Amino acid sequence: MKKFALTILALFGVLATVILIRAAGFKSRRIQSAPLQAVGVDRAALVKRLSEAIRFKTISLQEPAHSQPDEFLRLHAFIDRSFPRLRQSLNKEIIGGYSLLYTWPGKDKRLKPLLLMAHLDVVPVETATESSWHQPPFSGRVADGFIWGRGAMDDKASVFGILEAVEYLLASGFEPKRTVYLAFGHDEEIGGNDGAAKISGLLRSRGVELEYVLDEGLNIFNGIVTGVSAPVALIGVAEKGYLSLQLTVESPGGHSSTPPAHTAISVMSRALQRLEARPFPTRLSEPTRAMFEFLGPEMSWTKRLALANLWLFDPLLRKQLTRSPLTNALIRTTMTPTIFHAGVKENVLPTKASAVINLRLAPGETVAGATAHVRAAIHDPNVSVNPLPVQMEPSSVSDIQSTSFASLQRTIRQTAPQALVAPALLVAATDSRHYRTLTKNIFRFLPITLGPEDTKRYHGIDERIAIEDYERCVSFYAQLIRDSQP
Ligand SMILES: [Zn+2]
Repeated sequence: MKKFALTILALFGVLATVILIRAAGFKSRRIQSAPLQAVGVDRAALVKRLSEAIRFKTISLQEPAHSQPDEFLRLHAFIDRSFPRLRQSLNKEIIGGYSLLYTWPGKDKRLKPLLLMAHLDVVPVETATESSWHQPPFSGRVADGFIWGRGAMDDKASVFGILEAVEYLLASGFEPKRTVYLAFGHDEEIGGNDGAAKISGLLRSRGVELEYVLDEGLNIFNGIVTGVSAPVALIGVAEKGYLSLQLTVESPGGHSSTPPAHTAISVMSRALQRLEARPFPTRLSEPTRAMFEFLGPEMSWTKRLALANLWLFDPLLRKQLTRSPLTNALIRTTMTPTIFHAGVKENVLPTKASAVINLRLAPGETVAGATAHVRAAIHDPNVSVNPLPVQMEPSSVSDIQSTSFASLQRTIRQTAPQALVAPALLVAATDSRHYRTLTKNIFRFLPITLGPEDTKRYHGIDERIAIEDYERCVSFYAQLIRDSQP
């Protein structure tokens, strides 16, 4: 008996030692970086150009017939006027009527080009919310240290940040060794089929292979990532897939005074309940695991202990992450009913009930696998399950060991020195998926700082960017282009 107790004790000792050794070896992934050469751009001029850019109503509407194509052409002309060196030195092509592709030829044709992308279009402002804005949404007004308006964050800061950076580099006499493409789509907010998809197709037809693609996506989060007090710059190294399933139940109908045991509505309700009771399993996918490897060493001792020993604490961590919708979305395929229709009159049995379930597929999931999960969970031949046309498999995971990831990491450290940098999974979809055949390295990041109250400004009320953040975008792109040269 004594021997048994001693063995158990010894095992505990070994376990504790392993946990401690791993925690002690859980070293910070912060990198040292040389101080940044200041980008010498006139701040007032920079702000004025973005402010003016916001005034063009380059709105993407679900019904393209109602959009104003002239606004895009006026914005093109404004870009030409504002960046004379760029107009002179870069080759400009107009794709799909309103998208822009610039080519800045590199001196060494053997090097793979890099592609910086952003989009010219913005989402509309709902008329009912217009009066809630502190500054009119298309005024581009500069107030309280911010540039205000639709597109300030999404995504004209990125378009104009890139343009300013290139204009500055040209003025300073910089010549890239590696070809640099600038690709600005005009229909990102409605799927990118006429913009990004066509640009990508054109490059593919020319045999282009890219070193990497940088698109919008994640940002610098301040006070949002629990356990880390410093701001965190998250680089999206993968994005989730997309699928909607239409559920339909049909029944004979009839008079509600003599109802059968089940109606179309109750059968559909039971199906939805079964889905809620059978969520997709949780899993720490590669990007999320990598995020914790980068952030763990910067956390408190107890968190570090757990994150350094995921071989043991993985289930505990996943349980913790399911508690908030934000982190739950990082570890599983999510599904949620977004549309429900049934019934026409209070005393008539419904002949049909239909619902739409929207799914976001985690890395490793497939459209076919997710559809099968839903069918199995509902387990009812009276409920038909049909995928809707817009479907996207999850993206592949970009290589965080690549030199392009290292360049990004270094450039972020240089332009936002207080921020920790980590790879992460993007739970939304971007236009960058259209480039997946041109490179395996797609990164999604824009260096603007978001506090807990700021994320809802995306597509929301009071969209704005701090002038300091906008200047950071310009230095970031300039430094990244410099740093991406061998
Ligand atoms: Zn966007």
